[in-house]
Amino acid sequence: MRSEIVVIGGGIIGCAAAAILADRGARVTLVERTAVGAGASGRNLGAIQYPFDPALAALYHDSLTRYRALADASGDFTMAASPAGLLLLNRDLEAAEAHHRRLVAAVPELQPVLLSPDEVVLAEPLLRHGPAAVRLATGYPIPPASATIAWAELAEERGARLIIGTGGTPLVQSGAAVGVVLADGDRIGADVVLVAAGPWTSDLLDDGGRPARIQPTWGVTLQLRLDGDAPRHIVEEDEVDAINRAAAATERAARMVEGDPPSLFSLASAGGISTLGSTFLPSEHEPAHIEPLLLRRAAEFLPLIETAEVLERRICARPQSVDGRPFIGPVEGVEGIFVCAGHGPWGISTGPASAAMVARAILDGTQPPPELAAGRPLG
Ligand SMILES: Cc1cc2nc3c(=O)[nH]c(=O)nc-3n(C[C@H](O)[C@H](O)[C@H](O)COP(=O)(O)OP(=O)(O)OC[C@H]3O[C@@H](n4cnc5c(N)ncnc54)[C@H](O)[C@@H]3O)c2cc1C
Repeated sequence: MRSEIVVIGGGIIGCAAAAILADRGARVTLVERTAVGAGASGRNLGAIQYPFDPALAALYHDSLTRYRALADASGDFTMAASPAGLLLLNRDLEAAEAHHRRLVAAVPELQPVLLSPDEVVLAEPLLRHGPAAVRLATGYPIPPASATIAWAELAEERGARLIIGTGGTPLVQSGAAVGVVLADGDRIGADVVLVAAGPWTSDLLDDGGRPARIQPTWGVTLQLRLDGDAPRHIVEEDEVDAINRAAAATERAARMVEGDPPSLFSLASAGGISTLGSTFLPSEHEPAHIEPLLLRRAAEFLPLIETAEVLERRICARPQSVDGRPFIGPVEGVEGIFVCAGHGPWGISTGPASAAMVARAILDGTQPPPELAAGRPLG
């Protein structure tokens, strides 16, 4: 068995992988340059939900099982036994009907139900009357950082060493990984390096001059305390899955007009706090400039927004791959380097199973499915 493994990145992927590898008896060191959950894994919307891509469905279902086990093992992490439900809101009734038909054909197990505007406010009385919706049996709201922190704690309990506050770079000699160089010049010897650095993964891998396969798509969110109850469902404008593409984000950004960056209303509430999202931007923006836009857009759906208290503004980046799917497994051409990154908007929902998949590739030599393989050809 591979004996020494260094994981680069303390997001959901790196922390879950460290816990799973340590559970299998590997000696694991995790290197995180800022803090556990410093990136999107600590600052996301907080929705574990079906990822609208058949290639990712098994990762979602397996992640649910792993989250249930995590909740059993952790004092702090909790996830409801059944989904709160996801409401995909659409102002265009015909578009909602068409999407409902597609979802019934594609994912009958999510029990898609078409709701008229009247039925939407019966299902979720806090919403404004107007949009139609498709309701799906998915969506488990959690505090955004809670899963990543719980995996990191479990990794430590299982004997993994966490080095926080120092960046790392894979060290390769004669075509094989020999460890990681830390920002202060120290070296950690290893026969496997797992790069799980989210949107920064491409910077750490020599891709033979190819364009970066993973790019950041920046999202601003607001942490809100609503005056009174919060919506029970996770609510989203019915387009989030359609913009799960780096190319789509760039194309939207090109059409961006001052004060109106590409954004869609989404809201998930857990632990007394509601997280409001979000933008899809190719570069980092000042959250305070985006805040009025997010609030204005959300108030069109949810009147309570007008009196909400803004507790915190956040920005973080989705690790957006070219084809919207993660890269999982061994990196071609270098012995001992593995990758698990590129989950775009679905990393919380599919991360634990992805981490388990790369752990099996490292320890057992199993190959991930071709559509998720690290070396798959991209058009
Ligand atoms: C606004 C927003 C809302 C989202 N909401 C949801 C949601 O509701 N549900 C869902 O499923 N997904 C959601 N996502 C997507 C999800 O958050 C990401 O897919 C997931 O967090 C990515 O996890 P990761 O571990 O790959 O990367 P990250 O969370 O980015 O972690 C990578 C880590 O690597 C560290 N790092 C980078 N370089 C180095 C280095 N050289 N050395 C050491 N450490 C390094 C970084 O500091 C970072 O902590 C959302 C994303 C955004 C932006």
